[in-house]
Amino acid sequence: MVFSPTGVNMSQSSRRGVPVVRFRENDRHHRQTDWTGRFLVSLWAVSLFLTAGEVVAQGPGADISGRRYPGFPIDDSRLLQAGLHKISSARLTLYTDLPITPEIDELGRVFDAAYPQWCAFFGITPDSRPWKMTGFLMKDPRPFRELGVLPSWLPPFANGFSVGNVLWIYEQPSAYYRRHLLIHEGTHGFLRAHFGDWIPPWYNEGIAELLGTHFWDGQTLRLGVVPKSREEVPMWGRIKIVRDAVTQQRPLSLTDILNFGPTAHRDLEPYGWCWAATALFAHDPRFQPAFKKLPQFIRQGNLQTFNENFLKLLGPAWRTAEYQWLIVLADLDYGYDFVRTAADFTPGSPVLTGGSVVRIEAGKGWQNSGLRVEVGQRYQLTASGRFVVAQDGGPWECEPQGVTIRYVRGYPLGTLLAAIVPVEDSPPPPGTELNTRGSFLQPIAVGRGSVLTAERTGTLFLRINDSAAELSDNFGDIVVKVVPLN
Ligand SMILES: [Zn+2]
Repeated sequence: MVFSPTGVNMSQSSRRGVPVVRFRENDRHHRQTDWTGRFLVSLWAVSLFLTAGEVVAQGPGADISGRRYPGFPIDDSRLLQAGLHKISSARLTLYTDLPITPEIDELGRVFDAAYPQWCAFFGITPDSRPWKMTGFLMKDPRPFRELGVLPSWLPPFANGFSVGNVLWIYEQPSAYYRRHLLIHEGTHGFLRAHFGDWIPPWYNEGIAELLGTHFWDGQTLRLGVVPKSREEVPMWGRIKIVRDAVTQQRPLSLTDILNFGPTAHRDLEPYGWCWAATALFAHDPRFQPAFKKLPQFIRQGNLQTFNENFLKLLGPAWRTAEYQWLIVLADLDYGYDFVRTAADFTPGSPVLTGGSVVRIEAGKGWQNSGLRVEVGQRYQLTASGRFVVAQDGGPWECEPQGVTIRYVRGYPLGTLLAAIVPVEDSPPPPGTELNTRGSFLQPIAVGRGSVLTAERTGTLFLRINDSAAELSDNFGDIVVKVVPLN
């Protein structure tokens, strides 16, 4: 961002000689900028040098896909004279055509509270460089268009957009979602300013969604929360996007998401997928260290290199992530507990002829039994033990047949469930698992005891039936005996 005393408009400056603003030769995205863009940038540069008055010159800058746009002047007094309102904070100047209600007035405080969290998340020392964004919160875009601060060269956008250190958001019917968009676009701006222009789409939108999903009570801001309920995040809908796609037989793999192209996010659905994938990488302790190192690869400006570096950092954990993703697809919900649902994907060993015994904890999601079952073979499963499956109005004690106070996945809460997963070099595609009985997406009810015929060879996983959001109030465990039948 450049601050400068300027005041002339574009037409005046275009009559003068035009110094050319040169792009850095080592940035291929700068080289992609067309000549119209260069011309406009030049006009901006001239207006910056030749004018006088209270104007902040913005840009030139890049958008989320690294595309360069020209700069333009933001004439504070002209905007205010035209009837726009302004709020100012340390990190944000926001112009709006809305009246300044408390919900609007606090947006600067929200943005300022996000700044140290962005710094902490991305490993930046606060105030190591000057950084501030200018924003436009628009109920009616027309005055902004007329005032020249919603330039016609911006691509059409539904909710929010940002270029360089400028962001635009359309007014939303929910205070939550208005703040969400502000933090989302702020995350883009922060990343660009501190790490570079060209950020891989899945990471850029994923991280903006991850951090944009927040808790705010008027005093405390927490970025990157997993919302506990739909009511906590009105209009957010990222979990619904993923769940609906799975229901409609359109599940994506992690690889599909990492390969999203620069135009994928013209649709809403990729925002849901990118949120879910980055939430897994950020919240599961096995993937978090590699995920946190990703910003260092932004400067390389290449999706393939970025993804290759991520996979290299993850090492064998990438395969684990792909398997874990099948569980996310099956069970994603508000309040999803990424730690308690983390499963071990070590291949199992054959069941002992006389039977093998495994212990299953009530407070965890799918657990690897350590046993490999063979296709076509029948196994007698017998479960015993008592555990607490919920605390609300309880504690609710339960045995492996479950209790009918609640149903989850169509089975009583607490019922022992089984899945057989071929744990090999790489997981089966989500679309296959979705239609396979005995997968995480179609588990088998075992209850107190039943005969399980293995429909495929694989590792046996067991869990007690509960929402992936409600594992932390469970307590106790059960013992399951697995005996091969003749
Ligand atoms: Zn975005």
